Amino acid sequence: MARKRQSPYIWTTWLTRLLVGEHSCEWGAWFKTHHESNSYEKIPGSFDLTAWQVEHTTRVKEIREKLEVEGKTVFLESQNGFVLRGATAALGGRPDLISTFEGNGIIIDIKTGKPSPTHHVQVMVYMYAVPKVLQQYRGIEFDGRVIYSNHEVSIPASAVDEKFISNLSSLIRRLSSTTPPRKISNPVECGFCDITANDCPERAADAILQEGETGDF
Ligand code: SF4
Repeated sequence: MARKRQSPYIWTTWLTRLLVGEHSCEWGAWFKTHHESNSYEKIPGSFDLTAWQVEHTTRVKEIREKLEVEGKTVFLESQNGFVLRGATAALGGRPDLISTFEGNGIIIDIKTGKPSPTHHVQVMVYMYAVPKVLQQYRGIEFDGRVIYSNHEVSIPASAVDEKFISNLSSLIRRLSSTTPPRKISNPVECGFCDITANDCPERAADAILQEGETGDF
């Protein structure tokens, strides 16, 4: 049975699909925010984690070496973990690489799959949180970068503006609330959600789109 956390805790990637509007069911993220992740069953993914880890680690190493050749100081994923505590919840994350050079900073995430706006928002959450929580970066304004296999997307520091912070904060407050949000069961979102029917009996069974016919066109 799912065990309650002592206090609400949110991992950055639980927020990204909701922030970009790709998903609208907040219940799964709310459930994770309030329950210890090792205390409930999850739907196993079809994703080949080992192959991803090998490819990801190789890319991180290549990019770190390139940045160091350019004279930049680079900190790795294992050095970049953070927990930012607010009044309602703690927000955790771990950027792949953080690079600094002459007072400027850049936060980098490396993606091996298809590009998605969720990746950009993930880096924006890091850009917001890292200077607040990691002592060595206090006062540094960070740009962001998402590096794919064949192109990069740069995110200016100005993207983390009042509107973004307000949307992020509102979502975190909703997920931290003791009142659960309404479930929005639908085949597409449930297909991406790892909460089982034990914890979410409303889980939509199959990703079958309903079809009909019209004579209007
Ligand atoms: S299984 Fe579906 S309804 Fe349940 S939390 Fe996940 S997305 Fe929402």
